Amino acid sequence: MNFLPRQIQRVLDCRFTLEGAGVKLKRVLGNDENSTLDPFLLLDHFGSEDPRDYLKGFPWHPHRGMETVTYMWTGEVEHGDSMGNKGIIKSGDVQWMTAGSGIIHQEMPQKYDGLMQGFQLWVNLPAVKKMVEPKYRGILREQIPMVQKDGVKIKVIAGKVDGTRGPVSDLAIDIEYFDVKLASGKTFEHTTTKEDTVFAYIVDGSVEVHNKTIMQGHCVVFGEGDFAKISSRNGARFLFVSGEPLNEPVAWRGPIVMNTQEELDRAYEELEAGVFIKTKNYLDINRN
Ligand code: MN
Repeated sequence: MNFLPRQIQRVLDCRFTLEGAGVKLKRVLGNDENSTLDPFLLLDHFGSEDPRDYLKGFPWHPHRGMETVTYMWTGEVEHGDSMGNKGIIKSGDVQWMTAGSGIIHQEMPQKYDGLMQGFQLWVNLPAVKKMVEPKYRGILREQIPMVQKDGVKIKVIAGKVDGTRGPVSDLAIDIEYFDVKLASGKTFEHTTTKEDTVFAYIVDGSVEVHNKTIMQGHCVVFGEGDFAKISSRNGARFLFVSGEPLNEPVAWRGPIVMNTQEELDRAYEELEAGVFIKTKNYLDINRN
C-alpha cells in the first residue's frame, strides 16, 4: 500500500481586522464563509510591538456553543470569567475554554516590552455538546510536552506525536494542535486521519509543500492524502492543526455559534434578559 503526502488544497492569506474594543490583529481563518475549515471557525493572530494595538483588549463578552483556545508566544493576557476564574495567561501558556451553554469573560492583553504575540483558535462544538457545562482550563507552558528529533521541535498542545500526548485529556472534540519549529533544511511529517481537516499557519520564515513555497502570514490548507509533509529550506515556525469535520449546519453571529437561527436568536434574547448563563456558580460581573 502506498502512502501519499497530502496535496495543497489552497493557501489562505490573512487579513488585518479590528476586534474586541479595538485590537489590531491578523485574521487567518474566519474572514468569510470560505475561510472557515470545519470544525475550525476562526484563527486570529495578534502580535505587535506597539501596546496601542492591543491594550484596549476584549472586555466582557459572551460565548456559547464553541471553544476558544488561546496560545501566547510572548506577552500576557489577563482574563476573568463568569465562573469566577481569573488569572494571567503568560508567555508559552494556553487557555482552553469550552463555552458550552454559556460563559461571559474578558481577555485583556497587558503592556509588554517587546513583541507581544499570540493566537486564538475557535473550535466548533457538535450539536450534542453545544449546551454542555462550560469548562475552563489553564495550561502552563511547562505542562506542554515537546518532542525533538533531528532539527524538528514539536510542542504538543493537543493530540499525539510519537506517543507523546498533549496536556488536555478531556477534549470536547478530538483535535491535534502542534507548534512546530523547523531548522533549515528539515522536514516535518505527520500521519493524519483521511477525512480530517488539516492546516498549517506559517508564523515565521517560509516552508515548502510539494515544491511550492509558502511565506509567513499564510495558511496552507491540505487536501487529500495520508500524511502532511512540510519542509523548510531556511527555517520556519508554524502552527499545525487537524480535526474531524462536524458536517453540521452552522448558525453563527459574533461570539455565539449554534446550529440553527432559532437557537442563535434565543441566545441573544437570553443575553438581553440576563438569563444567558446556565451554571449555578455564576459570578455576577455587573455587580462588581
Ligand atoms: Mn472571548
